[in-house]
Amino acid sequence: MEETLLRLEELLVPSIADVAVLSVDVNDETISIGSRSTAAGAACPDCGSRSSRIHSSYLRFPADVPSAGRRVVLCLRVRRFFCPDDSCGRRTFAEQMSGLTRRHSRWTERLRSTLAAVGLALAGRAGARMARVFGVSVSRSAVLRLLDALPDPETPAPRVVGVDEYAMRKGHVYETVLVDVETRRPIDLLPNREASTLVKWLAKCPGIEVVCRDRAPFFAEGATAWGTSGGPGC
Ligand SMILES: [Zn+2]
Repeated sequence: MEETLLRLEELLVPSIADVAVLSVDVNDETISIGSRSTAAGAACPDCGSRSSRIHSSYLRFPADVPSAGRRVVLCLRVRRFFCPDDSCGRRTFAEQMSGLTRRHSRWTERLRSTLAAVGLALAGRAGARMARVFGVSVSRSAVLRLLDALPDPETPAPRVVGVDEYAMRKGHVYETVLVDVETRRPIDLLPNREASTLVKWLAKCPGIEVVCRDRAPFFAEGATAWGTSGGPGC
């Protein structure tokens, strides 16, 4: 029996440390996985102090990624620990299982990332509808909140930058728009067309090799000269 449960851990919670599968119950609609943490203690989310002094425990039922046409729900025994640091404002805290749970979430981390991927592809309403197809009931706004919580995609630092001026009002206030020439994305907007403003901006972006002004390139190190002399006139 113990060996079977060990194999179930590899199957059900692979690459998640310190989790024991205690039971698996299957009915027509749902697979329920009873589990608990095997870690000796946990770290306080506020002060980071580790504690193994248990205050109490309770059950949590985060939904997991469906399997074989059935909903999957974890039945997690979660321990609440005393924070050992007297100066910490938190007296007790509940443990989280890294890679599996997070505070206040009704989903496992892998269901959360599945729903976020669906939301990225389909956005709110269609994303919620798609989730229902694979048996997860989620609202349109919950899908959108998941997208909000995603980190910004890493954009590579620009190498070739285009500098263009444009007038806010016809013939009056000029601003400068900076564009990544290789990705064609606007990068920043400078409040004027002063060379010194551009030079300051360039100094903060050491990765820039080429600056194009009026579509003619010159090398970034030349931008300093441009700043002091009023421009190389390229
Ligand atoms: Zn604490």
